[in-house]
Order: sequence, then structure tokens, then C-alpha cells
Amino acid sequence: MTPDVWLWPLFFVAIATGYALGRYEGRRRQRKRMTGLSRDYVRGLNFLLNEQPDQAVETLVNSLEVGEHTLETHLALGRLFRKRGELDRATRVHQHLLAAGSLPVDAREDVELELACDYMAGGLFDRAEMIFQRMVERDSRHSVTAMHKLLSLFEQERDWNNALAIGEKLVRRDDSVAPVLAHYCCELAAGMTRDDERNAARRTLRRALTFDPQCARASFLQGRLELNAGNPENALRAFERLYEQDAVLFDEALDDVAACYDELDRESDLVEFLTRCSVERPSTGVILKLAERLRARYGERQASLFIAQYMKAHPSVRGLQRIVEMNLDDTEGQTREHLDILQRLTDRLLAEQSSYQCHACGFEARSLHWQCPGCKQWGTVRPAEAQADSPAHGPIAGPE
Ligand SMILES: [Zn+2]
Repeated sequence: MTPDVWLWPLFFVAIATGYALGRYEGRRRQRKRMTGLSRDYVRGLNFLLNEQPDQAVETLVNSLEVGEHTLETHLALGRLFRKRGELDRATRVHQHLLAAGSLPVDAREDVELELACDYMAGGLFDRAEMIFQRMVERDSRHSVTAMHKLLSLFEQERDWNNALAIGEKLVRRDDSVAPVLAHYCCELAAGMTRDDERNAARRTLRRALTFDPQCARASFLQGRLELNAGNPENALRAFERLYEQDAVLFDEALDDVAACYDELDRESDLVEFLTRCSVERPSTGVILKLAERLRARYGERQASLFIAQYMKAHPSVRGLQRIVEMNLDDTEGQTREHLDILQRLTDRLLAEQSSYQCHACGFEARSLHWQCPGCKQWGTVRPAEAQADSPAHGPIAGPE
């Protein structure tokens, strides 16, 4: 046997021994880790039982080695803390994960997103914004979520310019935000109008309509702006567009519409326009406004009969109140007393009634909010009366 051949068996024995030793060492390490884990786990549980939750979190988090298999557990724990409002603990879990430093890029981004959400929930907007902006710049796989979060963050800070800057990027990836961007423009324009910057407001309202051609709020603001600027014809064009976009919101502008026609000295055109509205899309607001004009022409009795006809199909407290008011002067004795009582009753009912309601979350309000204070959605708060109206009712006949 040559020396070379003699060495072969020894070579195989060495490999087998190495393999066996390796397996033994692996098992020994795993046993050791399990012992460490269970010891930390028991310590954590003891802290919990002794009502020392801070130490419990620290110990339990440290007992879980950061790795592919434990990442989800850590993230679930962090989210749970955030949901319970325990933001310090949620932040600590996420910072611990990032400090471990051995996470792959995707996992690291998951953790960063969670940490930014912790900061945002805790009102640490600067820190949250920094992380979200970095995700957008890097075009991370969470960049769309980060942009949505930034929109919500800037909304809370009422920073409409920054909200629009992010929104312009987001709308290319998610066009469902376009109507919201139109509302941001309206917020900006309302501020400009208050500051007497009419031309800037006009430009911004046109921008709103490019985001969302159906933005009724933009038409509403345009109408008011032009009316106050002494341009009733331009105002009427905006209000007529508003009527086509959203007949329910149009009722909110009825006083302004009437003011435009009055300024142009076109009373009969107003009556004609209101009559058309009352036939096409009747509402208590339109009927009362029309009755107000009919009273001047035909007297109280005709006007109250007109309202009463509408009320047969669309009973409302506001309509009843108006009929009572119109009939008060013509009555005396016991009937007058009864009408007085009815008037007080309708006044009280109207005072107690919420005029607006969010159709998304049910939030009730006394005034019109463009963003619901309850669920924070835009354009969901509507006049409560309009929601109660049944679409099954047909139009009523116009005045003769
Ligand atoms: Zn709501």
C-alpha cells in the first residue's frame, strides 16, 4: 500500500468526526439558547405577575432574538402596544429591532414604518415626517403608505401646501385621493379669500376643479367670492354649476343665489330658476325660498298653500314652522293660541335637531363641516334633512 492510499481511510474518519462534533455542538448551543429563552421568559412573566409591566416588556423583548422568525412576533407586539395607546412601549420594541442591526432591507423598512406610526400616534410629527419622507425619497415599497400617512399628518397640522406637494406625487399612484386634493385647494383658497387675495384664490379654486371637476365646494366658494367681489353674473355661473354638481349642497347657497339675482335686478328669473329646481329636485330649502318670493307677489295665503302642497309628500319641521308663521297674522282667538303653541314647539324642535350628519360615521353637527370631525373623511357631512328625504317622492307641481 502506497502512503497515499493508506491516508484515505484516515481522511474519511476525520470528516465523519468533524460532522458528528458539529451536530453535537449545534444541539448544545440550541439547548443553551432554549434555556436562556425560557429563563428570560419566566423572568418576564414574573414581572408581569408582579405588575411591573415595564420590566416585563424589556425582558420579554430581549428574550426574543431578532431574526427572520421572530420579527412578526415583535411587530405584532409593537402594534398591540400602539393600539392600546402604550406608545412608549411600542416605540421601545421597534427601536430595539432597529438597534439589532442585522435585519434585511425589507424587514428594516417594515420596522421603520411601524416606528414612524408610533411617533405619529404620539404627536411627534417631526420624527414621523422625517421617516415617511425618507421612504418616499427612496421609493421604498412602503412609499404609497408613507405618502398617505404624510397627507394625514399635514392635514392635522393644516399645512395645505405640503399636503398638496405630497398629494401631487401620490395621485399618480392612487387617483382616489384626487377629490381630497381638491378640498386642500379649497382650504387654501378660503384662507386667501379671508386675506383678500382674490386672484390667488380664483387660481387655487380652478386648480381644485382640475383635481376634481365635481368638487361642489370649489363652485360654492367661487360663487361666494365673485358675489362678494361685486361680480354677480360670474357668481351665478358658479352657483349654477354647483346645482348640477350637488343639488343638496346647492341649498346651502340659496341666500347667495337670491342675492345675485337681486343685485342684477332679475327677480322673475330667480322665480323661474327656483321653480325649475323645485320641479327637478325639490327640497325644503328651495320650496321655502320660492314661497318667500311668491308671498311678495301673491300674498301669504298662496305661499303657505304652496308649502303645504310640498309638505304632503315631504313633511319637515322647517316647512311646518314656515306655514305656521305665515298663518299667524290671519288668525285670532283660540286658533291663534294653538298656532302660537305650535310655533314654539317647531322652534324648539329645530333648535334641538342636528342640521348635518356624516353619512360615513353618523357624526352629527350643527354646522357644515367639509371634513368630518369624527371619521376625518372629506365631503361626507351632509344636511340631515336631505338624508332623511326619500328619493321615492316625485316632484311637485310648480306655482301657477
Ligand atoms: Zn364621519
